[in-house]
Amino acid sequence: MIKTAIKTKAYAATAHGEELKPLEIQRREPGPNDVLINIKFCGVCHSDVHQIKDEWSNSKYPMVPGHEIVGIVDKVGDKVSKFKAGDRVGVGCMVDSCRECDSCKNDLEQYCEKRMVLTYNDIELDDKTPTLGGYSERITVDEHFVVRIPDNLPLDKAAPLLCAGITTYSPLVHWGAGPGKSVAVVGLGGLGHMAVKLAHALGAEVTVISRSYNKKTDAEAMGAKHYVATSDFEATEKSQNKFDLIINTVSSAADMNTYLGMLKRDGTMVLVGAPSDELPIQAFSIIPHRKSLSGSTIGGIRETQEMLDFCGKHDITSDIEVIPINVINDAYERLLKSDVRYRFVIDIDSLK
Ligand code: NAP
Ligand code: ZN
Ligand code: ZN
Repeated sequence: MIKTAIKTKAYAATAHGEELKPLEIQRREPGPNDVLINIKFCGVCHSDVHQIKDEWSNSKYPMVPGHEIVGIVDKVGDKVSKFKAGDRVGVGCMVDSCRECDSCKNDLEQYCEKRMVLTYNDIELDDKTPTLGGYSERITVDEHFVVRIPDNLPLDKAAPLLCAGITTYSPLVHWGAGPGKSVAVVGLGGLGHMAVKLAHALGAEVTVISRSYNKKTDAEAMGAKHYVATSDFEATEKSQNKFDLIINTVSSAADMNTYLGMLKRDGTMVLVGAPSDELPIQAFSIIPHRKSLSGSTIGGIRETQEMLDFCGKHDITSDIEVIPINVINDAYERLLKSDVRYRFVIDIDSLK
């Protein structure tokens, strides 16, 4: 059966090294389990920049980035039970997975043993249809991968929760951030500022580790009790053996041994930042005091809904700068200079 397609305005890079510009794409009419969403806002993640620039060596063009998607349900397929037209919903970094493996059955679709299907720069499980992301007017997604945005959260400020929020919430919960735990967040960017707000709301004592003192006042307003600028040698030295957990959001290769030195005995540093360059780690950064280095990617769909409900309850949203889509290429340049407090969010109405 040939499914009809819906013409959709989008912004895309059509080749490596190209800037983003308008492109018309097609979305599928909703199948029985699908939800068609009119996108209202889409956050700009540093992963969009890594992939537009092919820094992870897996980029497919034309690429429509965007995986912090929020909008309103337009229509749903016959078998959809969770959503109806008019609902406020979100879609994050993945739109499918095998649903049968041990990870999928345990609500960890992001670790699917076959593969998760990323929202963009990927291929559907039919092995031929490219996925295209949220810098576009609408998207059709299986209801399993759609989540509900709590009524009290404004859609624009909630958009970054779909990646930056869940990517930091998941390791914070997994490694037990809460009362009595000292948690440090390295890098106060899109992910980092969500990590600070979430760790604080979970009851942990939070420290921000940033390159300079520029963001200290903001960090304190977000809930950080302490602040270390790595440009300050003395303050960095004083932070040795201090933290139970470090959430490292740094987007380019940095000296990981310095941060590992700040862990307490049995502490863990979790990499969520995904620089393309190799990271040199010295054995003696982890052998003394039995330290661990780990990694984590986004979170499962059940946990994403749990995170959104937690944010609804605690009134947690992102600090954002809303932009029209025609300044996206400049926004990428500003993001690379950390010149955003703390997440760009595209107003998708500017596409229409
Ligand atoms: P972002 O807004 O650019 O924030 C990154 C922060 O890292 C910057 O604000 C800066 O903080 C710090 N930083 C940058 N370069 C640095 C350097 N050379 N040395 C030390 N610190 C540096 O980016 P984001 O959107 O939060 O994303 C961060 C990283 O996470 C990216 O690599 C992205 O691809 C990755 N990511 C991973 C997942 C996952 O599932 N694991 C999901 C989403 C994103 P200060 O100015 O405070 O120093
Ligand atoms: Zn992201
Ligand atoms: Zn699976």
